[in-house]
Amino acid sequence: MATIQTTIKLHERENFNDEEDQKMDKALELLTIVINSDAFRRSILNFEYDNKKQFSRNYVDLSTPLSNQEVYELFMSGKESTNGVANNVLDLRWKISAKCPDSAIGTTFNRQRTETYRCKLEEMSAESFAGHIAHEYCHYLGFTHTKKYIVSRPYTVPYGIGKIVRDLCGAYVALQQLTSTELDNLTSVGNLVKGLK
Ligand SMILES: [Zn+2]
Repeated sequence: MATIQTTIKLHERENFNDEEDQKMDKALELLTIVINSDAFRRSILNFEYDNKKQFSRNYVDLSTPLSNQEVYELFMSGKESTNGVANNVLDLRWKISAKCPDSAIGTTFNRQRTETYRCKLEEMSAESFAGHIAHEYCHYLGFTHTKKYIVSRPYTVPYGIGKIVRDLCGAYVALQQLTSTELDNLTSVGNLVKGLK
């Protein structure tokens, strides 16, 4: 099955300093590559919660539960719950905030505007920031999670997809640093292992 090609548009960028601008650019570049990969599609399709291929809270506005395939398609459609256009564009609005609360990295308002706390962003790699952006974007789509930690929270769509993106970006960056010989060797060993499974 062909993957859907989706782009990202950052409509507003408020309060960013130079370093944060660069981190945002890098995160958006990684995010675009990763969401358009087959690995991203397969990670979502194979996501498991409670021994089933599903997310926790896999619904928007308490309507029908969405299958993993439907979650993937909704994410890639760019159909934010506030404007409803499936244009394959993730529309983002972002602000850096000087606030520094204990737990959260950032928060999304009215499903269409996100603030990230500067104190948290300073400690984050571009790969982790990409994961945070993907998490927040799930809120634009209408997915939710509890404010407090509960055991099922990591399996919600925002947390699940955020982690998938962070992990895939991390793998992508690490693999990019290998020489082509090292990459070939790794691929051939990988195929060997796959053959044994
Ligand atoms: Zn969230």
